[in-house]
Amino acid sequence: MKRKRLLWQLYPSYLLITFALLATVAIYAAEYGRRFYYQRLEAELTARARVLGKVFSEVNLDIATVDPLCKEYGRLSSTRITVVLRDGKVVGDSEENPAHMEPHAQPDRPEIVAALQGRIEPSIRYSHTLRMNMMYVAAPLQRGETIVGVVRSALSLSAIEKGLRAFYMHIAAAGILIALLGAALDYGAARRIARMLEEIQRGVERYAQGDLTHKLPVYNSLEIGSLAEAMNRMAAQMDERMRAIIQQRNELETVLSGMVEGVLAVDADERILKINQAAGRMLGVDISSAHGRSIQEVIRHAGLQQFVARALRSAEPIEADLSVNFGSERALQARGAPLHCEGGECTGAVIVLNDVTRLRQLENLRREFVANVSHELKTPVTSIKGFVETLLDGAMENPEDARRFLGIIARHAERLQAIIEDLLSLSRIEQDGERREIVLEKGLVRGVVQAAVQACRLAAESKQIRIEVASEETLYARFNAELLEQAVVNLLDNAIKYSEPGSAVEVAAQRANGDVVIAVRDYGCGIPKEHLSRIFERFYRVDKARSRKMGGTGLGLAIVKHIVQAHGGQVNVESTVGKGSTFTIRLPGI
Ligand code: ADP
Repeated sequence: MKRKRLLWQLYPSYLLITFALLATVAIYAAEYGRRFYYQRLEAELTARARVLGKVFSEVNLDIATVDPLCKEYGRLSSTRITVVLRDGKVVGDSEENPAHMEPHAQPDRPEIVAALQGRIEPSIRYSHTLRMNMMYVAAPLQRGETIVGVVRSALSLSAIEKGLRAFYMHIAAAGILIALLGAALDYGAARRIARMLEEIQRGVERYAQGDLTHKLPVYNSLEIGSLAEAMNRMAAQMDERMRAIIQQRNELETVLSGMVEGVLAVDADERILKINQAAGRMLGVDISSAHGRSIQEVIRHAGLQQFVARALRSAEPIEADLSVNFGSERALQARGAPLHCEGGECTGAVIVLNDVTRLRQLENLRREFVANVSHELKTPVTSIKGFVETLLDGAMENPEDARRFLGIIARHAERLQAIIEDLLSLSRIEQDGERREIVLEKGLVRGVVQAAVQACRLAAESKQIRIEVASEETLYARFNAELLEQAVVNLLDNAIKYSEPGSAVEVAAQRANGDVVIAVRDYGCGIPKEHLSRIFERFYRVDKARSRKMGGTGLGLAIVKHIVQAHGGQVNVESTVGKGSTFTIRLPGI
């Protein structure tokens, strides 16, 4: 349906009403004016007829007397005056010769008929004698009580009609003027209403565009003013609600973005409603462009797609372990729950993803560690058991064998002890480090280095290895002397173990880039590149047989790493096969 502007709906009706009112008033005024003129004329003619009736009642009623009088009075009063006798005979007429006039008592001259009966009744009709519209008023002509004739006064209506026409013209001109003025006022009034509504409409459009702070002007028109007030109230409430919704949304965003867990919400068509940063990171998704797109399009992981589909279908929350690889291999634990609307229909699902990669790694490490420990302990225990059995089986009888076997048993027992001691000190350092119970004190690094060198002197001498120390005199750091000494001893011990007899081992302690660096360098067998990243792991050895032969437990470097970490430092290694290795402990300087 074609819609019309309110202005063009209001204005025509206003115009119609104005014109109708004007026309009514104009017609009424014209009619009233016409009647007024006629009544005035009638009153005048009646007065003249009455006066003349009195005059003529005292003269002889013959043509010779009456007619000249009629002509004279007629001229004086500009009125046609006619005197008619009871029998209808005209005895005088101001305009005509009565001798030539027909008798005037016919019923088509009602004024004469009425006057003969004593009444005065005006009559308007066309005069054939004068050929114009006339008003006639006749008054009885009495002699004593007897009506002997009538005196009639008459006037042409043309003057009145001319006057009336001028009057009508005035009314019409005033009417047109008033109509024009009215039309302009009507237009103004209609325009004002239309304007107010247009302004409200524009305001509502701004509301629709989200500008809820806009205020509509409150007009003095009761209804439109109330409408504007109601709209302003509505906008204020909507604004308040919108703010509350935005705040809630922001809170939700903050919570979601602060979560370590990945959160993914989808609708019933598997389109993404929400995805937080953590989920974006885990699934390799750019979250800024993911909203509204289907999960198949955004997340290229068949397992997760199936999981989402399952979560949407299932009535209960579900769980699954997923493995994803978007850049790096990650283990995810997924929990999915369908979202139900009030009617119980499924409207979507929420998936929460937990990155359990670290947990799984730790579990693996623990498993590996237990296997390693068991394996490490098994060898000496098996050997001890074997030699004890051999001794019991008779080898004891031979004192030489017995001595040899007991020697082997003692070595394995020592090895067991060394492993257990290393394990205990490792776990102690680890625990104390975690609980921050390791006491660090400011001290001279040089002292620690010298104590460690002293501790290794015997081992070095037995292999004719020189230990060269280069340490800054006033090099201070915060450390736990006992632990740091153990770390340096472990490094020196390895350097001696894996060096050829007669070679040199260098220990240097100095400041570098604000840090305190203790470097232990040897010119021994070196470590192949592929092992470098793993030698700080527990029980990791490059050459198992050699390490065992040397009495190594495979825990020495792990202990160093934990001690250095407990000091807030780092340990690194550089090595070239056949040329030697340099282990560096880097502690934060003070
Ligand atoms: P181990 O008790 O076997 O020496 P460590 O944890 O101290 O155990 O060292 C781990 C492994 O790293 C050793 O088995 C050895 O293969 C290698 N390694 C350590 N230090 C050196 C070194 N200075 N030169 C060559 N290899 C070394």
